[in-house]
Amino acid sequence: MKAIIIGAGMGGLTAGIALRRIGWDVEVYEQVVENKPVGAAISLWSNGVKCLNYLGLERQVAALGGQMETMAYRDGFTGDTMTEFSLRPVVEQVGQRPYPVSRAELQAMLMDELGFEHIRFGMRMVDLVDDGSAVTARFEDGSTATGDILIGADGARSRTRDYVLTEPVERRYAGYVNFNGLVDIDETIAPATQWTTYVGDGKRVSLMPIAGGRFYFFFDVPLPVGVDYERSRAKEVLGEHFSDWAPQVHKLISMLDPFAVNRVEIFDIDPFDTWVKGRVALLGDAGHNTTPDIGQGGCSAMEDAVVLAIALQTNTLGVEDALVRYQNRRTARAGELVLRARKRSDVTHAKDPEITRAWYDELRTEDGTGIIRGIVSNIVGNPLG
Ligand code: FAD
Repeated sequence: MKAIIIGAGMGGLTAGIALRRIGWDVEVYEQVVENKPVGAAISLWSNGVKCLNYLGLERQVAALGGQMETMAYRDGFTGDTMTEFSLRPVVEQVGQRPYPVSRAELQAMLMDELGFEHIRFGMRMVDLVDDGSAVTARFEDGSTATGDILIGADGARSRTRDYVLTEPVERRYAGYVNFNGLVDIDETIAPATQWTTYVGDGKRVSLMPIAGGRFYFFFDVPLPVGVDYERSRAKEVLGEHFSDWAPQVHKLISMLDPFAVNRVEIFDIDPFDTWVKGRVALLGDAGHNTTPDIGQGGCSAMEDAVVLAIALQTNTLGVEDALVRYQNRRTARAGELVLRARKRSDVTHAKDPEITRAWYDELRTEDGTGIIRGIVSNIVGNPLG
């Protein structure tokens, strides 16, 4: 059996690895010409890590992961600690440590694992046809590829989704812009093994350790969509948005390489339940585009990959039936995570400033129990327990 996978992001690559493990032939087609992920790093929460462990990548992902022992919120203006607590209870309750990892390193590891001979770069799918016994993808260069199924892991602006839903869906702007990158760990900004977040006025500045003595940092700024931005001015722009913030935040801004700062306007899509049409299925952001506010988009894509392989391996009524079973196992959980992230996003980014001020007050009395409960509740319900 052969799967055509469109997109070599973390969803498509994980799906490729999962399908190869159950004996399928896999061809991944990626539009870009080289591995250059947008975004510096991501937090792989324990559910995502479990999926990689399940695929035999336990050692590889641990080698990329930062050691996050504690978590803290700080007042963005004064730098004072609002709450600080151990993340150990998360690990104990769910059975696996989370790992913040560099995106480029994660992608490279997944590509190595899948095998570059299974990935074709510079191949943009423009059309597909399902004739009931096979699916054929057509690419911009006029070439085609045919398989028993086609997995659309083609991200938030998925062409495959237009096919499955028969029309394009509207993405919803979440109201803020995320600036992210990597810097060397500097303990005058935040402790080396802590996830530290400075908050104030609906903005936040967050630092997470990744392997190699680096912090993954991101700044969130509520802004209208489409504001002009020049990459070379990253420091000035952030300096203006955070002008009255604590010295630690200014120190971070002073350390940035402006050309290595990514600027992303954040969107999501209302959850929908149709991920499959005949022999074609959506996976990852194509099926559930979320804001990053609970760090679950990529982890959900990995859950999709594992469930897809299990569905194809354990059902014997044909691939179309197996794809529907995959869809039915995944849409409710993935959709719920999208809505949870949206809710978190609204509170964090002061959609209603009163609610956000109340959250800041709550953080000052928080001993970690409520935040840990929230993190754990995102992780439980994953297909691997
Ligand atoms: P993508 O990574 O978008 O990959 C899709 C691929 O398909 C791309 O390589 C694209 O070039 C290719 N493609 C698209 N169209 C075509 C076509 N027509 N033909 C061929 N190829 C095509 N998730 C987490 O789990 N934890 C986090 O901490 C986290 N933080 C985030 C922070 C930010 C700022 C953002 C924006 C997202 C974050 N996410 C996080 C979400 C995560 O990045 C996504 O959920 C994840 O990348 C989805 O993977 P994917 O493979 O489905 O899509």
